[in-house]
Amino acid sequence: MNTYEPVIGLEIHVELKTKSGMFCGCPADHFAKKPNTGTCPVCLGLPGALPVPNKKAVEWTIMLGLALGSTIAEVSKFDRKHYFYPDLPKGYQISQYDQPLCSGGKVSTSFGDVRIHRVHLEEDTGKLQHATVNGKKVTLVDFNRSGVPLVEIVTEADIRSSEQAKEFLKKLHQIVRYLGISDADMEKGSMRLEPNISIRKVGETGLPNYKVEVKNINSFRFAAAAIEYEVKRHAVILESGKVPAQETRGWDEAKNATVSQRSKEEAADYRYFPEPDIPPMRFTESFIDGIRKSMPQLPDAYKKEVKDVHGLNDNQASVLSEDFGKMKLFAEIMKLHEVTEAKITGATVANWLINKVADAGGLTGEAIASEIIQSKKVVEVSDDVLLEAINAVIAENPKAVADFKAGKEQSKMFLYGNVLKRLAGKGDKQKVLELLAAQL
Ligand code: MN
Repeated sequence: MNTYEPVIGLEIHVELKTKSGMFCGCPADHFAKKPNTGTCPVCLGLPGALPVPNKKAVEWTIMLGLALGSTIAEVSKFDRKHYFYPDLPKGYQISQYDQPLCSGGKVSTSFGDVRIHRVHLEEDTGKLQHATVNGKKVTLVDFNRSGVPLVEIVTEADIRSSEQAKEFLKKLHQIVRYLGISDADMEKGSMRLEPNISIRKVGETGLPNYKVEVKNINSFRFAAAAIEYEVKRHAVILESGKVPAQETRGWDEAKNATVSQRSKEEAADYRYFPEPDIPPMRFTESFIDGIRKSMPQLPDAYKKEVKDVHGLNDNQASVLSEDFGKMKLFAEIMKLHEVTEAKITGATVANWLINKVADAGGLTGEAIASEIIQSKKVVEVSDDVLLEAINAVIAENPKAVADFKAGKEQSKMFLYGNVLKRLAGKGDKQKVLELLAAQL
């Protein structure tokens, strides 16, 4: 049998958390709302309704492009992408074809760089719901999601393993969350993953002559599982002398397998043409610069900062910057007056967040800070109690005492350690050291 290597590209759709829709004033937050309550003539595609682009959505897409190192287009436009499906009220989706907002860029992974092909802006579709109404199997459609701003990120086919795909996706997820442009909550469908998978014989360098797209995956784990499943399936087909069909498949969670959905459309099938109701967009350098200046710190920069400013080690910095929630809590806690006052170090706060908070959700920075300070506070005891412990340790260790008197400074620290052990966390450590020196 030949040895093969995967050739994987990814398409990722991310819903932006703008207030309003991509081309209308309907709320962009559609999650768990009563069906068809957040709609208007524009997102329902009623005749005569005219789209007006959401400026924030355009700015945020550019911001994402800047974070990924993309080139931002000087001129960009929207296009109509036609296909017929009940969740698409106009019969076309307003998307971007040949002049996307952002082109190029890359995300580095431990397996090598993954180049970004393009980042473009479009509108989300409605949602179909399969249900039984009055004993009849029906398909219902909810248009609340129709017209929600959606960013599509397309990578080059640079990914060579499911692990690399997972690492890339986690990094992208992190960047989107840091920028604050989307919840990127995969369970709610605000980040959806589509790997394009083919395989080739090891040593070959060209792109394979087919690819299979797996649609709408909602977890990193499923993305990796779908890739592994496809890689094995393709190898069997290629070994039999055939070529896997160019098609779109879905991930079946229950079967732990991909299933065929439909043959893949070609760009020509979509009859793309420029959206006549929206003029092209032109961006000045100062507009792009303004966006660049308003960008929050990205994960890699944050990681460096917590090491340089708060003295965290590599491991603490990595774990913390991986989790957006914990990272925010860390920054919040380190700014608190009482934390500075109590001389709580960054390392202490980081360790607490890493080890004690499985899910940082719910706890405020202040609550965590007071818990840390409480745990650090010494139990006040009288000098008599300290002296009693010191004298007991001196009596029990005549050799160490003699060594100290003979000039062996280390012996004092040995005695000091034993006194602390005896006090079991009680008493002020500095005071213990002073009293011990005096007694000796
Ligand atoms: Mn798309």
